[in-house]
Amino acid sequence: MFSWLFFGYQRTGKMKNKIRILPIDDNLHDRPLVKEMQSERDNAIAMLRESEAIYHSLYEYANLAILLTAPDGNIFSANKCACDLFGMTEEALCLAGRDRLLDTSDPRIPEMFEERARTGQVKGELSFIKADGTRFPCEFSSSVFLDKNGQKRTSTILRDLTSQKKAEGQLRMLSKTIEQSPVSIAVTNADATIEFVNARFVSIIHYTLEEVKGKRPRIFNPGHSSESEFNTMWETINSGKIWYGEQQNRKKEGTLFWESVLISPLFDEQGLISNYIVITEDITEKKKMIDDLVEAKEKAEESDRLKTAFLHNISHEIRTPMNAIVGFSGLLKEPDIDPHRKNQFVDAIIQSSNNLLAIITDILQVAIIEAGQSKLNESEVNLNATIRLLYEQFTLNHKNQETKFDYQLGLPDDQAVILTDVTKLTEILMNLIGNALKFTDYGRVEISYILKEKELLFQVSDTGIGISPEMHEEIFMRFRQAEHSLNRSFGGSGLGLSISKAYVEQMGGKIWLRSSLGRGSTFYFSIPYKKPDR
Ligand code: ADP
Repeated sequence: MFSWLFFGYQRTGKMKNKIRILPIDDNLHDRPLVKEMQSERDNAIAMLRESEAIYHSLYEYANLAILLTAPDGNIFSANKCACDLFGMTEEALCLAGRDRLLDTSDPRIPEMFEERARTGQVKGELSFIKADGTRFPCEFSSSVFLDKNGQKRTSTILRDLTSQKKAEGQLRMLSKTIEQSPVSIAVTNADATIEFVNARFVSIIHYTLEEVKGKRPRIFNPGHSSESEFNTMWETINSGKIWYGEQQNRKKEGTLFWESVLISPLFDEQGLISNYIVITEDITEKKKMIDDLVEAKEKAEESDRLKTAFLHNISHEIRTPMNAIVGFSGLLKEPDIDPHRKNQFVDAIIQSSNNLLAIITDILQVAIIEAGQSKLNESEVNLNATIRLLYEQFTLNHKNQETKFDYQLGLPDDQAVILTDVTKLTEILMNLIGNALKFTDYGRVEISYILKEKELLFQVSDTGIGISPEMHEEIFMRFRQAEHSLNRSFGGSGLGLSISKAYVEQMGGKIWLRSSLGRGSTFYFSIPYKKPDR
């Protein structure tokens, strides 16, 4: 084993100076000076031994691998840690030599040797090879010294970097995962002030890391979550559990958005909370999709309900006139029927047939509109003549003496010639007048129109039962009726207004109403005033 004495000798310069060479003399031991020198020498040897013991223990028990080599690379001593590191006995290491341990493919080697030759020492990182051929990274420091014979020697201290590199790699991988994660991540300290936010976080919230560092995440949630929600959240995470929730947060420019939030506490070695990890995901779109789905589901359910109600109504509306037609036709076959009664039966059959026709027409019109097949068919029409004709038809059938039915024309006959789809205009007016008369027991029903700017504004008003404001939009939807119950007091399919609305809009106008329950209704609609080319 290499002796550590020369280390002690070299370094303890004080001793080096004190050792003197004495002349040979037989009575030397009896002289006081000789005795003193003898004791000094013993002291020096004792100190050298102590020094050797210290160095020996450092060498043998150090947690670092130490190799002592000659400049040519011959190893003449290796400590236990070096043997463990390379997986070889000291003898094997000495036999193998430095060059067998160095990974000669490491491009940094020449530079390292050059530096040590120049300065007498070098520090750095190189790749080494174990007995089983495994390559591993080592941090090393190597220095040149002279042994007791003045020969150049090298001591090399090695520290295995395998676990450190692995840990660094893992750390790099984790920090890259966090940095490039598709979800936003913020890390706060134990006081809940932000220390780090990842790129996704910045891209969503539009604050930079510098802007949010040292701030509390609550700045993104000014007043949107209640105090009790925050208290529950703190109670959960401070008890070491993970908190999940949804929060409406605010971006830097003020835009509100929804996030799903997960907050997890991180613990240090003592089990104390050192950080909080806040992971969030923008769920604004998802939430909107869910809201839309819920709305669509409600609509589908509502539409289903309405269709059921519609089928009941329709079957009632079809059966009533059909029964009348079948019943009265049968009665007509009776012999000796009085002519007056016979006329009444025929009238009833005609009325019921008309009702049936109206229902079937409504259904067909809805189907045509639905299919996008409804086309405008414009022609020259005298508006006043159309209204007069409608008035005549309705007066003929209108038997209720309690309701006064009237009309007012907004243009003289010679200016009332317009270009329009008269079938659709008639249909709209018939629906509105029909409803007004149907829902008015007494008072007045009036049709009128005026020319306003470039539009004709029609008005059908009544003093009937009226419609509550919350139904004003609904009644224009298919099958919607202000009164939903199956034993409705008024007939109708619930299609008239939706057809009228579709036609008005197709003609380039709008339809709306003013009404409240018990106070009558006024329906308005506009169409463009088109004069025919002459
Ligand atoms: P219906 O065939 O049921 O009359 P409409 O689409 O024409 O179908 O009308 C839809 C609903 O609007 C009616 O069922 C009724 O509840 C309400 N309504 C329409 N016009 C009036 C009106 N003038 N007065 C009161 N309610 C009306």
